Amino acid sequence: MDPITALLAQVLDDIRGDDRGAPASYIPELATVDPDHLAFGVVGPRGRIRSVGDDEVEFTIQSISKPFVLAHVLAQRGLSDVLTRVGAEPSGEPFNAISLEEGTGRPANPMVNAGAIATTGMVPGDDVASRTESVLATLSAFAGRRLRVDEDVYHSESSTGDRNRALAHLMRSYGIIDAPVDLAVETYFRQCSILVTVRDLAVMASTLAFGGVNPVTGDRVVQERVARDVLSIMSSCGMYDFSGEWMLRVGLPAKSGVSGGVLAVAPSQFGVAAFSPRLDEHGNSVRGQAIVETLSDRMGMHLLEPHESISQPIVDVSETSDGRVIRLSGELGFAAAERVLVVLRDLATMAPKDAVLLVDGRELARTHPAAMVALRSELELLPGTIRFVE
Ligand code: GLN
Repeated sequence: MDPITALLAQVLDDIRGDDRGAPASYIPELATVDPDHLAFGVVGPRGRIRSVGDDEVEFTIQSISKPFVLAHVLAQRGLSDVLTRVGAEPSGEPFNAISLEEGTGRPANPMVNAGAIATTGMVPGDDVASRTESVLATLSAFAGRRLRVDEDVYHSESSTGDRNRALAHLMRSYGIIDAPVDLAVETYFRQCSILVTVRDLAVMASTLAFGGVNPVTGDRVVQERVARDVLSIMSSCGMYDFSGEWMLRVGLPAKSGVSGGVLAVAPSQFGVAAFSPRLDEHGNSVRGQAIVETLSDRMGMHLLEPHESISQPIVDVSETSDGRVIRLSGELGFAAAERVLVVLRDLATMAPKDAVLLVDGRELARTHPAAMVALRSELELLPGTIRFVE
């Protein structure tokens, strides 16, 4: 077992004994699940899936579908348009609260039911089947395999979904939903009933972690900006009325679902997913949260603690007939530009008067525009001849 999988297995063992909470029962079909299921998976930058526990067990995605349908709609309509129909503020209320903005009828955010139904209402298509297909295609691209709907759970959701239907009727009366209520709501029930394993969720999380590119398939699923927008909303609203404390304790954008899944994203590092059906009073998986919190602690993943730069530029110095060449590769952000400048300052001050320094940035995989501007203007202040090749 490699060290990371061993760490996952250790975390799983440490939280296994916690049997607090109970599986969701308001959707009858969800209550039939084995409450002891427990699984955990992570996917890193090279797309290797590591998972432990009941990692082959399928369960319905439920609310974890919300950020991905949001991504789908953002990619088609853009942020400003989407924000006219759904807000981006934490609601501080339970996931199924009947609460809409006064006057406009806009739901608080796309992660509570009202906001998610409004989001799903923006999916184009003439009927439930074509709308579901367009949602399924996007979620499948995030997961890297073809996903499908659990028909039993769908029927169970639909036959007990009056609260969600009521929310949709209210929103339609305000013009937040254009589509007939049934189109929006039945598509929403179907999207919640899509079957996944913890491995699928970890891949989906990793696609958000790596700027919209699925690291397993190598396919770009959404633009980097869309992934960033989705993660921003997950950071403040992903865990319902526990979102603030979650950010405080775990420090990662995350999303939970009532079937017991939890997904979290460590940008540029890992996609993480856990599954355990017993829920707490907020509707979040008890052990799923504990798994992600323990992992975040043990691996130092909290976003707001100081981080080492993920990819430092490699500074390789060689002498050529054109002068001294300094080769940069990797990512160049502010911190990295600062380190490069320290080296260049030394080289430039030590160099003979007529020496030429060539900074070769052609292998830089990723540059931050503002860091490049800063680097260029600092370079001009250094003594001697310095040329920057991009
Ligand atoms: N289908 C569920 C509902 O709308 C999803 C809720 C959830 O996972 N929190 O009630």
